[in-house]
Amino acid sequence: MEKNQDEIKEEYPKICFLCKRPESKAGKMVEMGGDICICCECMQRAVDSMQASGLSYNGLVNLADEESTETPENTEEKEKKGSKIPSISMINLSDLFGGMGLPRQQVKKKKTKEQHEEKVFDIKAIPAPHKIKASLDEYVVGQEYAKKVISVAVYNHYKRIGTGALDDIEIEKSNMLMLGPTGCGKTYLVKTLARLLDVPLAIADATSLTEAGYIGDDIESVISRLLAAADNDVDRAEQGIVFIDEIDKIAKKKNAHQRDVSGEAVQQGMLKLLEGSEVEVPVGAASKNAMVPMTTVNTKNILFICGGAFPGLEEIIRERLNRQASIGFLGDLRDKYDADPDILEKVTVEDLRSFGMIPEFIGRLPIIFSLSALTRDMLVRILKEPRNAIIKQYQKLLALDEVELTMDDGALEAIAEKALEKKTGARALRAIIEEFMLDIMYEIPKDENIGSVKITREYIEHTGGPVISLRNIPPQISCS
Ligand code: ADP
Repeated sequence: MEKNQDEIKEEYPKICFLCKRPESKAGKMVEMGGDICICCECMQRAVDSMQASGLSYNGLVNLADEESTETPENTEEKEKKGSKIPSISMINLSDLFGGMGLPRQQVKKKKTKEQHEEKVFDIKAIPAPHKIKASLDEYVVGQEYAKKVISVAVYNHYKRIGTGALDDIEIEKSNMLMLGPTGCGKTYLVKTLARLLDVPLAIADATSLTEAGYIGDDIESVISRLLAAADNDVDRAEQGIVFIDEIDKIAKKKNAHQRDVSGEAVQQGMLKLLEGSEVEVPVGAASKNAMVPMTTVNTKNILFICGGAFPGLEEIIRERLNRQASIGFLGDLRDKYDADPDILEKVTVEDLRSFGMIPEFIGRLPIIFSLSALTRDMLVRILKEPRNAIIKQYQKLLALDEVELTMDDGALEAIAEKALEKKTGARALRAIIEEFMLDIMYEIPKDENIGSVKITREYIEHTGGPVISLRNIPPQISCS
């Protein structure tokens, strides 16, 4: 028996033409004619946006069977009579939704396209490795090897994106693993790089990641952050950089009796991301839920850089080196490696496996390099050389009061020595400087006659005061 049209319609659930939700989720639908239904929520949003943009309801609604006179009385009368649905069926949808009433996801996608047209990643604009390194040199002190490796890797990565598959030879992704003690500039290097290249950057902490479904951030939330950093522009996010810090904290737990949801499982979960896969992420929110629109991000061209201090790895490397050279003068060699400050440079995949990283994970980070611990001289240079060096910042602040600030070499060395004692790398510098600059920043603006201040080692070591000279009076007065 042939079903009539109405019966066929009954069998299928109504779906909102705009938000695509079925009637069971979106609630009652308004039939617009021509098999188009719109849920009340979308309808309300459309009407709201129409009012907000100052459009006249009557101007859009063709009151087919009534006279279209725009007097307020007439409108009121119609409302009283309940002339709502039939007239809405004549609404010109494109006028009504004019971009404003569309669900969020569609608006985002449109924006993405527009921005992409403005700024396509042009491979010719990617500077050559030596130029990338030269720019890094302006900000990051020392770490010559790391800067060189990262410049080449980044250059190759973006060249790979620009060319795609060359003669069927697909260039492998240059994900990186960076080893180095805390405060030696791992995060700073990546941040500077992303800023110089003008690509979005997401920084995540591996300690907060857990396997999906457990308390903590699931692995895909990293991509969500990258999307946010790219202002929800999917194309830009797909060429961004993700930095995962503290990666050593997701090493396989030794003697774990329960399920290792924050260690090995996270490494497993990251495999697909590192390699390149399509990830569904919420737009404009950190977690997935029914109300947040989703979008798909392909991680194929996202550069992943993992960093960690890997405490205990030195011991593993040392043991291996000793084992390899154990025939003969073991005692002598042990001493040799004990004294080696750059033992991390000799790291191999085997050492990382012994540390607890799974082979599949390390395999997806083909570029492994280390940053060296900061020495006293490097700390002194960090104080004064980078473009935004801390000393330069204070000099600028005092220059606004027309006071010249200088630090003699002894003072810089004393600060570096104090920072070394704290064992937190360059991070300690700021705290030390802030402590002794407090008095200066408090006292100097009091006296308008002060023309310059010189910080000395004695002042840092609390055995003397800064050398202060007054304006237009050449002899210096030391005050304590
Ligand atoms: P980590 O290696 O633990 O990630 P960071 O990169 O966060 O360390 O370094 C902390 C701060 O120390 C940075 O914000 C930066 O100002 C400073 N810093 C560290 N290393 C260097 C360096 N090599 N050159 C210049 N500044 C540095």
